[in-house]
Amino acid sequence: MKILLIEDNPGDARLLLEMLKDTPGDFALDSVERLGLGLEYLAAHEVDVVLLDLNLPDSSGLDTIARLHGRFSLLPVVIMTSVDDEELVVQAIRHGATDYLVKGQTDGRLLRRTILYAIERKQAEIALTWRNVRFRLLSETAGRLLSSQEPEETIQTICHEVTNFLDCQVFFNFLVDDEENRLNLNTYAGIPEEEADKIATLDFGEDLCGHVAREGRKIIVEHVQETHGEPNALIKSFGVKAFACYPLISNGAVIGTLAFGTRTRSTFAEEELDLMKTVTDQVATAVARKKAEAALQRNEEELATILASVPIIMLVVNPDRRVLQVNEAAAKFAGRRQVDMSGMRPGEALQCLYALDDPQGCGFGPQCQNCMTRLTVLNTLETGVNHYQVEWHAPFLRNGKQEEVTFLLSTVLMGTGTSGQALVCIEDISARKRTEEALQRSEERATGQAVRLQTVLDTAPAIIWIAHDRECRVITGNRAADDYLRVPVGLNVSKSGAETDRLAHFRVFRDGVELSPAELPIQVVAATGWGLADYSMELRFDDGTVRYLLGNISPLLGDSGEPNGAIGAFIDITERKKMDQLKDEFIGMVSHELKTPLTVVTGAIYTSMTKGVSAKDKKELLHDAVSGAEELTSIIDNLLELSRFQADRLQLNIEPVDVGQVARNVTGKLEKKSALHRLMRDIPETLVPVMADAFRVERILYNLVDNAIKYSPKGGTVTVSAREQDNSVVVTVTDQGIGISVENQARLFEPFQRIQQSHLGIAGVGLGLNVCKRLLEVQGGRIWVESTPGKGSTFSFMLPAAREFEGG
Ligand code: ADP
Repeated sequence: MKILLIEDNPGDARLLLEMLKDTPGDFALDSVERLGLGLEYLAAHEVDVVLLDLNLPDSSGLDTIARLHGRFSLLPVVIMTSVDDEELVVQAIRHGATDYLVKGQTDGRLLRRTILYAIERKQAEIALTWRNVRFRLLSETAGRLLSSQEPEETIQTICHEVTNFLDCQVFFNFLVDDEENRLNLNTYAGIPEEEADKIATLDFGEDLCGHVAREGRKIIVEHVQETHGEPNALIKSFGVKAFACYPLISNGAVIGTLAFGTRTRSTFAEEELDLMKTVTDQVATAVARKKAEAALQRNEEELATILASVPIIMLVVNPDRRVLQVNEAAAKFAGRRQVDMSGMRPGEALQCLYALDDPQGCGFGPQCQNCMTRLTVLNTLETGVNHYQVEWHAPFLRNGKQEEVTFLLSTVLMGTGTSGQALVCIEDISARKRTEEALQRSEERATGQAVRLQTVLDTAPAIIWIAHDRECRVITGNRAADDYLRVPVGLNVSKSGAETDRLAHFRVFRDGVELSPAELPIQVVAATGWGLADYSMELRFDDGTVRYLLGNISPLLGDSGEPNGAIGAFIDITERKKMDQLKDEFIGMVSHELKTPLTVVTGAIYTSMTKGVSAKDKKELLHDAVSGAEELTSIIDNLLELSRFQADRLQLNIEPVDVGQVARNVTGKLEKKSALHRLMRDIPETLVPVMADAFRVERILYNLVDNAIKYSPKGGTVTVSAREQDNSVVVTVTDQGIGISVENQARLFEPFQRIQQSHLGIAGVGLGLNVCKRLLEVQGGRIWVESTPGKGSTFSFMLPAAREFEGG
């Protein structure tokens, strides 16, 4: 047990030393003569109790105890008084003395007991004070940390108090810097600034504090000065004797460290470490709260930035339906300042014309009764139901002009109960709406145009195909084209598409050579971009039909001028082709048919002019020449009539015509044509005349009688008869010739129709009956045939009777 005696009287000092020698127990006594020396001694040595004389050369009376207690309050102090002055003793004890001894009245036993009691009492007192102070400290610390706006600064004050209380001189508080992944020195005490600068940042694992932060476990080093090695070097250099570092842990993560160090003792008591731990936990909570608050603030700031920058109009409306706050988009929309909008009704704030026009303002006008914005906000405020994207429109005053605005309205209740406010979000979709409408209109226009185009294409008499891509994988046709190919409307008719989709019921030829899909005209134009004109091709269908097409094909060009399809318009020229063929055949036939009688004519005349031909032969020859010439004339007359028809130059001279007279003329002309035939007339004398062109009636009758003779090669009777019937006259020519089958009867009257009777060798050009039919039709009559093959034929025609005209 170490005792320090502060006593300036050497006699008293010696006396005490003697007493202690005889006292049982391990007492070691040092003495000094002045208070100043005593204080120095105490700072350098560990002492269990002080024996103090109050009257010293550098201090006297109660001041002595006060000064000593002021510096070393935990030390038990026994004052030595020379007189038994109770008043002084009481005062001294109030100033921190633990007990007292009266000089001259003290023996070894009393001295020992007093010292031991003093130590014990002091310890009890310390324990009590410790508990009290600790309690006060902790509760204050907790309170201050919780209420502090700046916990990081509060930590400094608290640490100072704790260090003082624990008789520590050094502390460090590091906080984790998440971004840099290291520790920053937040506050410290007890070391010079330049030393602090050196440890302003620590890496995880660096030094003791870095180590604690990395491991998340406390480190306590006692007897620091006696230790060796790197980890403790720093604190050792600060003169620290005992050091404790704790991790600040929040939610299982290390957020910093708190460390205390003392230069006066080499160890810490358990309760001191306990206190440090408790304070550390409190600090951790405060720092974590601060961090969370900072994060929250950052979020709020971000939210504020977002709210400011989103193009959505936002208003916070209170239960009285007054605007509390608006964002920048709202101010921009209204053309007002944000501050000016607070306190207004929403409609007024945003310059709704209904609100501006009505003297009572937003929410009261007749239009406001149905205002969706008002109803939605009210509903949210009253029932707490949020609404999402309700579409509404209203007229607003914008930039001095009235503007109909369409918008989507969303409302969210913020807060609860009667204090609830509505966040109103308004998304102006007018521009989008206008664009959509314009798009729809243009789509409708485009559709309309497309429909019109399709109608044009479908009504066009031409066969039109459109290739929709450069490769012609899709080709569709108009109605005429689909009918032509005999496919359903709108079918892809491309021969260049997928193998399986290709139309296979026809093939395309040109000059007798089949075209491959790539050689087809539309494909060629779509691929090259060069059009084709007057292109003819031949379609051969699987059922054997062959059709001819003639057309023009143009490329369809894209925006950049690249071909991306083709359109081809064709007409069917099959009939024309046939006519051409027919014409060619006809010319050949006519030439032939003209040549035969001409040969007869020329031959007969030449022969008749030969010497030695008898007058009788000459007469016969000339007769042959005349009938040949008549045959020629007949053919040429028919040709001329036909050409008049075709040129629309037929002129008729309609007058009452005596059919009997015409029949006589005709039979007269043809009588001599054949010796095998007998021409008969069966025409009443009183037959009513017909209204017709006499010359044409003769032509008709001539053709019919001529045919009757021609097609009864074995001879027989040819009868021309006539009779009146229903205000018309029916003339018939009956022969006993080869007759005509029923199916052939149907087409006899078409031009160039000759029934194959080549084996009979009967000449003809297939014109006569067609001319008859046409001539009768223009004179208001008609022609028909009855015939039995092998027995003969009866050709009849009818013409209106002249009486009808006379009467009418
Ligand atoms: P063409 O006599 O020059 O051949 P038509 O127009 O006068 O031409 O007659 C057309 C066809 O009608 C004839 O080729 C013939 O086959 C048939 N035909 C006309 N008249 C008779 C008839 N009286 N008896 C049988 N066949 C006839």
